[in-house]
Amino acid sequence: MKKKRILTGDRPTGRLHIGHYFGSLKTRLEMQENPEYEPFILIADVQALTDNFNNPEKVRKNVREVAIDYLSVGIDPAKTTIYIQSMIPETAELTVFYSNLVTIARLQRNPTVKTEIAQKKELFGESVTYGFLGYPVSQAADITSFEGELIPVGEDQEPLIEQCREIVRKFNSIYGDILKEPKAVLSNSKRIKGLDGNEKMGKSLGNAIYLSDSEEEITKKVMGAVTDPNRIKKDDLGNPDICMVAYYHNLFTPKEDVKTVCEECKAGKRGCVACKKQLAKNIIEELRPIREKREYYEAHLEEVDKILMEGTERARKVAKETMKKVKDAMMLNYFE
Ligand code: SF4
Repeated sequence: MKKKRILTGDRPTGRLHIGHYFGSLKTRLEMQENPEYEPFILIADVQALTDNFNNPEKVRKNVREVAIDYLSVGIDPAKTTIYIQSMIPETAELTVFYSNLVTIARLQRNPTVKTEIAQKKELFGESVTYGFLGYPVSQAADITSFEGELIPVGEDQEPLIEQCREIVRKFNSIYGDILKEPKAVLSNSKRIKGLDGNEKMGKSLGNAIYLSDSEEEITKKVMGAVTDPNRIKKDDLGNPDICMVAYYHNLFTPKEDVKTVCEECKAGKRGCVACKKQLAKNIIEELRPIREKREYYEAHLEEVDKILMEGTERARKVAKETMKKVKDAMMLNYFE
């Protein structure tokens, strides 16, 4: 049975945090064990440049950081192809071809793009770049160059897949039935709130625990987490429902212990400092194997580079096959 190609990816703009760990990374670990799938993970450095064009050092540095994060959590290069976007020139070429099949108005109406442009006011001011507005086109090139069939996404990313499907339909209606229409698979992984209670977790918000954080960094961050503001003394009756420490206990602490945490908090029998220390210890323990693997890869960067090179070669081979079909269909096959 032919395996289904499944594509996921990250913009390498920073190290991965526990929001990624409970979200996309766990999904990818499951995917690579599913015999029906052939997973690809794209490190989208070209896409990262659309809003970091003025900071290429940051993107370059994080390509390797993100790769180390993948390997540290258990992404297995024998089962999952990890590759670097900019080293697949076929996707850049496809982006140019597809740009004729989508209108500027349609890109401007894309809800995901609209939201992201609003969030990047500081960078773009009133006038967004052609590259950023067009990134869904380059994403369509990424997906179709690998005949990606299934694309796991969060709800907010679904319009990007719909845009890709439209491009595929338009292409096929003009040039013949060449491209595969991908399906969005809504990921059931939940979004993890930041330590400050913010719905989003990220570097700029300073509310994230990174997979690469040291024990000291984890402890320091947990000690600064937002708790029930009405609790001043240990015997004040607390409300764990509005406490981020209780929220994180739910992720990292065994169920029976979470019950005790909540009961003692409500009864005013638990101090916040002790409660945070217990949480920090549990996070440190859960992330310990990841940190240890990271240390290994940091000491063996040549292995990381080899994995990236081999993954990229494998991915390029597939992209070249698609490009051949596309160019034949578009009559761009001169001198053959
Ligand atoms: Fe939060 Fe624990 Fe303090 Fe209760 S005791 S408010 S759960 S930190």
